[in-house]
Amino acid sequence: MISDSHQHDCPVPSDSIVVRNSTHGEYEELWLRSLGRKAAVEWRKPRDGQRARVYRAEQRVARILEDANLGSVYSTQAMVNQVVDSDWWQTAAPHRPTVEVADGRGRRSGGSVGGEIRLPRRYRTPLIVLHELAHEWVMCPVRAAHGPEFAGAFLSLVRVFHSCRARDLLSEAFITEGVSVSGRFT
Ligand SMILES: [Zn+2]
Repeated sequence: MISDSHQHDCPVPSDSIVVRNSTHGEYEELWLRSLGRKAAVEWRKPRDGQRARVYRAEQRVARILEDANLGSVYSTQAMVNQVVDSDWWQTAAPHRPTVEVADGRGRRSGGSVGGEIRLPRRYRTPLIVLHELAHEWVMCPVRAAHGPEFAGAFLSLVRVFHSCRARDLLSEAFITEGVSVSGRFT
């Protein structure tokens, strides 16, 4: 196992790209940009067990908040920049100094790919942008994508960059839906 001590506490280097998965998902071969070579890293890919619960909680909150759609990729990028350029983000997530917004054409939902978030037009709301930025912050192949660390990070981002009301609503919705939250990113 390659170890690395990033701010977001992930044992897999953040500059790596998966080039090959084993058939049983127990190791993946990575391309390490910083070293300019490949490395086989062993891990067990965790099941993303609370994904559906996170989505249900988020939809509860979205129905109450009725956030306006941000519209263009340009406007969405402006919101992302506001977060990423803040002292708060730079302290919390120094491994992710920039995040680009792509238009998400052809996708059925939003997505986060490491340094880039892809959002079809109907998903360009502040709440969903903060969901994707939470992925950018805590992304780590050995953790479930929507695991407790993600949930904690999402709550923190909503508190700082949306509103206390939205944070309280999301926290309540997480409890209602049974989403586990780690305090590591709060
Ligand atoms: Zn997600």
